[in-house]
Parts: sequence; C-alpha cells; structure tokens
Amino acid sequence: MRIKKKVWIWLVVFLLLIVGYIIFFRKEKELIIWQENLNFEIKSEIKIKDIIKDSKNCTITNEEEYLNTDQLGEQKIKIRYKQKEKEHETELTIKIVDTESPVINYEKEIEINVGESIDLLKDVKVTDNSGEEIIVKVNGEYDINKEDKYNLQYEAEDSSGNKTVEEFTLIVTKKIIGTNYPKLIVPEGGKEVSKTEKGFTVYEVDGSTYIDSILIANKTYPLKNGYVPTDTYTSADGVTSQCATCINNVAYNAWLDMKRDATALGLNIWIQSGYRPQSLQERLYNDYVARDGKNAADTYSSRPGHSEHQTGLCFDLNSISDAFASTNEGRWVNENAYRYGFIIRFPNGKENETGYKYESWHLRYVGTDLSYKLYNEGNWISLEEYFGITSEYKN
Ligand SMILES: [Zn+2]
Repeated sequence: MRIKKKVWIWLVVFLLLIVGYIIFFRKEKELIIWQENLNFEIKSEIKIKDIIKDSKNCTITNEEEYLNTDQLGEQKIKIRYKQKEKEHETELTIKIVDTESPVINYEKEIEINVGESIDLLKDVKVTDNSGEEIIVKVNGEYDINKEDKYNLQYEAEDSSGNKTVEEFTLIVTKKIIGTNYPKLIVPEGGKEVSKTEKGFTVYEVDGSTYIDSILIANKTYPLKNGYVPTDTYTSADGVTSQCATCINNVAYNAWLDMKRDATALGLNIWIQSGYRPQSLQERLYNDYVARDGKNAADTYSSRPGHSEHQTGLCFDLNSISDAFASTNEGRWVNENAYRYGFIIRFPNGKENETGYKYESWHLRYVGTDLSYKLYNEGNWISLEEYFGITSEYKN
C-alpha cells in the first residue's frame, strides 16, 4: 500500500508537470493576433503594425513596413518577428479592396440659350481613390431647342462597382443677356486672299469677303454682284423693296430678345429699314446723287453692292435722324445693343475709318464675342479699325 501511495504522488507530480508544460507552450504559441477585418482600401497607407491587434511573447521586427496597396485583390504579407532571440517568419493573406465611390466635380446648374449646343461633360471632373480613369454618363432627357428646366444626373462608377450619382439642372432659356449670341458660320469653299494690317485673314467666299467669320460690306469690299442672303427670318428671294424681317435668323432672334427687353423698360424700338436688295439700293443711291451730288451721297448712302443692308445682317431703327441718338431709345440702344451681339456700325467720330458719318440708328449683327470688344466700355471701336481694313471707293 505504501508503494502504491508513492506511485500516486509521483503520478500527480508528473501530470502537473505535463499540464504546466502544455500551458506554458500554448501561451508561447498564441503569438500574434490579427485584426478581424483584413480588407484594406486601395492606395491607402497601411503599415504591418496596423494589421496586428496584439502580439505576445515576441517582437514584430518589420512592423514599420508599408503594405503595397496599389493593386486590388488578395496578397500575402510576410510578418517577421523575434522570439527568445530567434528570428521567425509567418505569412498572412490580406485583401486590397475599393469601397469608396468616385467623386464628381460639376456645376449644379447650367444655363444655355435655346438652340445653343452644349457639351454637358466639358467642365466635369471625376476622381476615384483607385486612381483609375472613370467615364461619366449623363442620365435623363433634354431638348436644347425647348425652353425648360431639365433635371439630369451625372453618373460615375469605378471598376469595383462603387457608383456616384449627382443631380444637376440644365436650364434652357430664351434669354441670357450678354452671353453667347453666336458668330455666324462662314459658308464653305472660301479661299484665303490676304492678311489685314492687324493680322486677320481675309477670305473670299463666292465673290464676297469675310474676315474672322464676319461678312464685310463697305466701300473697299463690295458684296458679290446681286448677293441675296439666305437663312433669313423671312425669305429675301425676289424681294424688291426694303424688308424688315428678311434678316438673318440668328440676328433676327437676337433682335427679338433686344426688342422684348426694351419694351419691358417702356422703350419703343422698331426696324425702320432692314434688308434692301441691290436694285433698291441702286435706285436710292441714284436719287441721292441726283439730289446732292456724288461726293455728298457717298458720305451717307452706299453705292449698290457696297451696302450692308444687302447682307441681311443689319437694320436701321426708328427714325433715320441724328436726333435718335439723344432719345431714351437711342441712348439705351447705344449702351445695350452689344449685349445682343449688335454693334453701332458707324460710330461717332469714326468717319475716317468707316467711310460714313455717325449713324446711331444703324445696327449690325456680329455676335457677342466681337460686339463686346467693339463696345469697348462705351467707346465704340469701328469694325474697320478692329480688323485693320479700309473703307474707300477705288474711284
Ligand atoms: Zn442703315
């Protein structure tokens, strides 16, 4: 019995040693505890130590190392650590993911004139944390020819399926004062003939002269013999007398805007004389020559083929009289016509350049690009001065 007791004691001691040994070793094995979530955002700055929640009985030696987070997908990470002066290495699989949506930079409201073409993506920029190139789509329907407010969306999606949708409004309106009454398009088939002294290119298109898309009709540059404008509000074909509506469509619509705004201010403006065919100009000019002589007639009336009225791009307002300039209407026109793309074609004091005395009533459409420049804060520049051309008859 004594021996049996001793054996039992030794057995218990032995078991305790084994248990102690196991506990000691288990403790030693629980070295490194990872973060629960091993998904990391692409292009983010992550160090080895950021993916370790805890470490026991060892020292991580590469914990300051950055992970490569440039590519999406799984990757194996090597963790190096020291335990009891011994170097060890273990491997871990992490995943690089993209959970952030693209960011769209855009204008909440875009306003255009009816009929004005627009690239809705022109000023839109999209960025994504992935650094990838992302194409932006426009959702929704709109009609640039119909006045309305259109609620549309920009949509951008990255390759991980993160989508951003932003709402914006396209306002198609009939009137934006002072913005974008367009230049007219030069008909095709023009050939370059010369440069002006200001460096502009002079084109000849079917017998007429254009500079920078502006059809020129003055004393130096006649129109093609028998020129009749096309694209007019009312057709100029076969018209034999002055026609207030046989005006280029773009110019006429700008005029309607201008007239409406003037009316709203209690001003009364109307077209006294618009398009004039060459035959009518011929009769008028000959009458003036018969009455006042050629030299005098040339200061206020154009010779046939040289009249801007034949272009369908100009008109005379109200009373063809110097008194117009000092009426409320005349003053408003002088200060505001440029906002609609019109210029005072024969400004005060520019007779030597234009070849004509001041005509406060004669407006010419050129589009707002040029009209703003020629308005020159109220000190009108003549078309001739701006382009660097003359206006003189050859004989
Ligand atoms: Zn005129």
